[in-house]
Amino acid sequence: MVAMAHANDMETYAGGTVAKFVDEGYRVILVMLTANMAGADIHQDGNFMEHAPKEVMAVREKETHEAAQILGVDTILQMGFKDSVYHTGKELAWLGDQNYDVHHPAGAEPIAAAAGNFRCIKRMQTILEKYEPQIVITHSLSSGYEHTCAAQIVNQAFGQAVKDGAKLGSLWIPTQVRHAAWESDVRLFASPSVLIDVTDYWTLKLKALRAHQSQHSKNSIRKLEIIGQYWGIARQCRYAEPFFCVYDAKHR
Ligand SMILES: [Zn+2]
Repeated sequence: MVAMAHANDMETYAGGTVAKFVDEGYRVILVMLTANMAGADIHQDGNFMEHAPKEVMAVREKETHEAAQILGVDTILQMGFKDSVYHTGKELAWLGDQNYDVHHPAGAEPIAAAAGNFRCIKRMQTILEKYEPQIVITHSLSSGYEHTCAAQIVNQAFGQAVKDGAKLGSLWIPTQVRHAAWESDVRLFASPSVLIDVTDYWTLKLKALRAHQSQHSKNSIRKLEIIGQYWGIARQCRYAEPFFCVYDAKHR
């Protein structure tokens, strides 16, 4: 199960791993926590944050399905939590601002303030208990914005589900913290405890990433190449995806 904030997060952090595990016979479930209300350059003219939720959500949903099909994802579950920013049609509304409508029809609960948001955590716990995945992959806990919220929700839901008797395996987070910014630095992050050789699946990963056309990710693809190669050296292969196991339900 890959439980992440937005469309294209799975492909970015774990696209090769997903394709490889599908090949090995795993059933892969994608859980997307936000409604994807913002952050799409729909007309590919550089306007990333200027489209209203309705328009953005439709585009990103289409891209999600295309990419998931490329990787062989079996099931997509959309939790639909509100993003912490969206465009009202006139301006950006940030959670906490006066013009942010917490009752906006585009999403459910806002995803922010996750640590105390038991409704978000409870819903995630219910999903974990239903599917009892062998491996759950979520964001780094210090990833930023909705990524951190998603990581907190999944982390807490995982721990609670195990306490309540669910048969879960292990919880992995990518050692790569941010993908959208060049200034992020792999040397700052925890060393991976799991390195997946994704050499044979790298082309599929990039194909899935490119299905997210509204993200026009030339720079981030170049960066992913470098990170993939960096960890490939450690794994003695061409490309590897790095994870850190934060929770092993068997040896907790
Ligand atoms: Zn994201």
